[in-house]
Amino acid sequence: MIHKFIFDGTRLVLDVNSGALHSVSEVAWDVLDGYIPGKCEELVNKYSALHPRQEVEQAVEEIELLVEQGFLFTGDPFHGSWEQPDNRIIKALCLFLSDRCSLQCRYCFARPGVSSIGGAGLMTEEIGSQAIDFLLNSSGPRRRVEVDFFGGEPLLNFPVLERLVSYGRKRSSALGKEISFTVTTNALGLTREIGDYLCENEISIILSLDGRPEVHDRMRVFPNGKGSYQSVFRNISEFIKAHPQANYYLRGTYTAYNLDFSSDVIHMLGHGFSKVSVEPVIALAQEDYAIAEKDLPVIAKEYEKLTREIILRLEKGQEVDFYHYNIDIDEGVCLPKRLGGCGAGVEYLSVTIEGDLYPCHQFAGREGFLMGDVNSGVVREDLRQLFRNAHIYKKEGCGSCWARNYCSGGCHANAHLFNGSIYKPDQLACRIIKKRLECALYLKAYRAMKENNNDGINRLKV
Ligand code: SF4
Ligand code: SF4
Repeated sequence: MIHKFIFDGTRLVLDVNSGALHSVSEVAWDVLDGYIPGKCEELVNKYSALHPRQEVEQAVEEIELLVEQGFLFTGDPFHGSWEQPDNRIIKALCLFLSDRCSLQCRYCFARPGVSSIGGAGLMTEEIGSQAIDFLLNSSGPRRRVEVDFFGGEPLLNFPVLERLVSYGRKRSSALGKEISFTVTTNALGLTREIGDYLCENEISIILSLDGRPEVHDRMRVFPNGKGSYQSVFRNISEFIKAHPQANYYLRGTYTAYNLDFSSDVIHMLGHGFSKVSVEPVIALAQEDYAIAEKDLPVIAKEYEKLTREIILRLEKGQEVDFYHYNIDIDEGVCLPKRLGGCGAGVEYLSVTIEGDLYPCHQFAGREGFLMGDVNSGVVREDLRQLFRNAHIYKKEGCGSCWARNYCSGGCHANAHLFNGSIYKPDQLACRIIKKRLECALYLKAYRAMKENNNDGINRLKV
């Protein structure tokens, strides 16, 4: 299977199964449509009516060579069926350190009344330590494990966070393992001391900022309705100024109110923040800020605009790390991840403040998805099996989708929210993912062309 697309006049062809990306001429672009193995003469005759014969012959020859080398029209190595290994290893946990939050963001999935995890509690050190023990004991021979501190606002429970980091490091090193930590914060509690602590302890940090002041302030508000931009922006700026080497990402959400989200990314880049991630809001259609099908053409144009903006910056020597454009076409990700997806419910679980286990942070509190708790472990093996099987060959439409090896079947939580089944991907999200992926591939091609200083991508050119 191949996927063809054009970005700013560059014709690109992705060979889905090998991951090879080719920049092609107009002639080859057309010829690829009619390619049938072994029918070269017919192909030459057919397309010579449209293009000079000699060019068609050359294109056919090059296509044949690439097919032979395994870079075009490669077959599915799994022939449409694959099973996720049943090794029952847990690699990562998301700990809800706090159900409390200093903000009441309008789109928050944990808002009181929206989800049962919206509450007022803090995780105790005891539950947190039990969660870490559960993770280490469930990680089998795996050396590296990960813990994400999440909420609510996890920094509202900072003393417990500190104790869990120290406990996790002690326990993991006693077992010959390594544990890494990430914290996702609204940055309101990010004082100088806390920032120093996070960096000294090599804790990765995801800082929530939606972009321009008016965009951020519309959705990310204090309980009194006032926007939080000023305080958040100040804390983030001071943190990054004090710790330019910090392992951070700025993470924003775009909604129907800022479909021109490339301006938000540019706003963040313009303030010197080079690591940015911006994602579409997850919201049901009845919400005024939900993204609808009619918004897709504008969103597609925004991703294109963002790609051009990033290229402009790269040309000026400014490094930009837009999270969703970080794809590896050369090596790919590991196989279970490429086919099986995010790992939710299989090797990644979330833990509520009470110690209950759910497939991931988005599922926390959703009826029917309680998998066990940190003391008893996973008791719902049926649920684990359900998630284990939710890979690209079992999810509706994924097996024949050109984006499958990068998207890996999309978000199970979105699929369940919008379609009532983790096996039925949300089509709106699919269309956004595919557009974003084309832009990411183009950017990759652009970088390759620059580095090689020729027209080839991945050494190959048709
Ligand atoms: S884009 Fe949609 S259909 Fe394609 S692999 Fe992802 S979830 Fe499946
Ligand atoms: S199910 Fe969705 S929200 Fe949950 S971990 Fe996977 S991608 Fe993330």
